[in-house]
Amino acid sequence: CGIVGVTGKQNAVEILLKGLERLEYRGYDSAGIYVNDQDGKEYLVKEKGRISELRKEVSGDVHGSTGIGHTRWATHGAPSKANAHPHVSADGRYYLVHNGVIGNFAQLKEEYLQDVTFKSDTDTEVVVQLIAKFAQQGLDTKAAFKKVLSLIDESSSYSFLLVDHNEPDTLYVAKNKSPLLIGVGQGFNVVCSDALAMLDQTHDFIELVDGEIVVVKPNSVTIEDPQGKVMERKPFHVSTDA
Ligand code: GLU
Repeated sequence: CGIVGVTGKQNAVEILLKGLERLEYRGYDSAGIYVNDQDGKEYLVKEKGRISELRKEVSGDVHGSTGIGHTRWATHGAPSKANAHPHVSADGRYYLVHNGVIGNFAQLKEEYLQDVTFKSDTDTEVVVQLIAKFAQQGLDTKAAFKKVLSLIDESSSYSFLLVDHNEPDTLYVAKNKSPLLIGVGQGFNVVCSDALAMLDQTHDFIELVDGEIVVVKPNSVTIEDPQGKVMERKPFHVSTDA
């Protein structure tokens, strides 16, 4: 299983699909992408099986400069198209991919989301629905995301990539016990669970620390620790020379 994301590149679809193909070695049962063209159009494509199946579903009119992609290794809910990521909130505002397990998803669903109709059996969908709920109550996206992270219990593991339809060039990123890197480019940035997925885009990567919230835009990467302090961190260089 693995995660990829990109913002600031015209050919986001191909970058995501290639990135997912490079993560195939990690094993998975389904895959999906969400892309946004910054002009009000967005596309969500998911498929059970291999990335080649997903590719067949992605038609020529699916394009965008920001997007997220996922290969799934099912932990909650059978391998199926409905359970494949990205998951979308009921109001259509938020798109989320997740690797890992949310230990207390059933309690969160019971406590906060009894009025929401779910489209999947995954633990992940609880997270995206809860972000949307807190946003509806007036929190901005970062605050809503942070609030949900604070409610996820310690037994959980995750790497998350979140897109807000209202702010389509921005990726919200967080991780706990799952790998995740930001790849830094010129006028674009990428996110991936393994540098291998994005080595044709950049060789400069920033490592994230558990609990940080990262806001990635085409020309900036802003890392905040859990207390909201902005962290400066230089990328490391991955050399592919022999
Ligand atoms: N727990 C999530 C699910 O079952 C994510 C699994 C993964 O890491 O791919 O959908």
